[in-house]
Amino acid sequence: MVNAEPPLSLLLELTHKCPLQCPYCSNPLALERGGGELDTAAWLEVIDQAAALGVLQIHFSGGEPMARPDLPQLVKRAAERGLYSNLITSAVLLNAATLAALAGAGLDHVQISFQDSEAAGADRIGNYAGGHAKKLAAANLVRAAGLALTLNFVVHRHNIARVPDMIAMGEAFGAGRIEIANVQYYGWGLLNRAALLPTRAALDACTAAVYAARERLRGQMVIDYVVPDYYAAEPKACMGGWARRFLNISPSGRALPCHAAETLPGFDWPSVREHTLADIWNGSAAFARFRGTAWMPEPCKSCDRREIDWGGCRCQAFALTGDASRTDPACELSPDHAIMAEAAREAERAAPEFVYRRIGANVGAAQS
Ligand code: SF4
Ligand code: SF4
Repeated sequence: MVNAEPPLSLLLELTHKCPLQCPYCSNPLALERGGGELDTAAWLEVIDQAAALGVLQIHFSGGEPMARPDLPQLVKRAAERGLYSNLITSAVLLNAATLAALAGAGLDHVQISFQDSEAAGADRIGNYAGGHAKKLAAANLVRAAGLALTLNFVVHRHNIARVPDMIAMGEAFGAGRIEIANVQYYGWGLLNRAALLPTRAALDACTAAVYAARERLRGQMVIDYVVPDYYAAEPKACMGGWARRFLNISPSGRALPCHAAETLPGFDWPSVREHTLADIWNGSAAFARFRGTAWMPEPCKSCDRREIDWGGCRCQAFALTGDASRTDPACELSPDHAIMAEAAREAERAAPEFVYRRIGANVGAAQS
């Protein structure tokens, strides 16, 4: 067993249940049903093990983590173990009573995802009438409770023109941080790429708006910005490198180095039902497979950036080339880079209908 540096962050996908149906959801196409979820005792054990392993931050996510009635109990355990806790939520289930329970349990931070800056577009993307209004009310409650708040806006061709309004929303809420995150094309996002990818011109206008706002709001509000890989010259350091910083647990307890890793074939993902987090992190073959630089092919192997971006994203390499061990096609040095430019041409064509994220969606028809 090789002892790796401990993970900084643990993301718990408590459930895949969610009242919304966003067509870019990062959950896998094969959503897990509620009956297979870990029970409360198992999640508490995971939290205890994470603290012992040296994890500093814990993210409660899903699906919609507030669909789990035991969430306050889990937050309380994280606080007792000295972990900084973040709730990643659609916020449509957040009200004065549920927030009070979470704040009382010791929750540190709330990240609310917004589908748009205006109700009609937001409710259409989430396929949930009245959702936007509930999110606004929830964000006000979080501010009033004195918890740290991040507003997360997921951006695509249907709302990218309203990025300035999204930034203004963040200012109006007095958020310390907002995220303008272009859709990442994995899972449901990849399935719906032709419906969601913005044009290069729209992305450039968005980038200019973000950079100008960052200048204007320096010292007041941080704006995190994520661009689509399809217009990049260099890949992002996906998850800070495979199994270097992050550990993800699926609703049924499978441990993954990122939420999309289940799309990769040929892996035997270890479960927290059978293994400790320490054994998984330090000893599992799946976590070791792409850790570090030894696995890299050329051009990564002899590239100066190999310990900066770690060769990009393994899931994207697999999704676009069929081989997870190739250089991420987002890199302009990749022999597969032309795939990205070809896919980006989809954005110039009329957008097809979304396939909404739900169990039983007609995924096969969209893929053919
Ligand atoms: S992206 Fe949308 S559908 Fe997916 S978990 Fe978040 S709110 Fe729910
Ligand atoms: S060749 Fe590999 S290491 Fe170099 S920039 Fe591209 S993806 Fe990163």
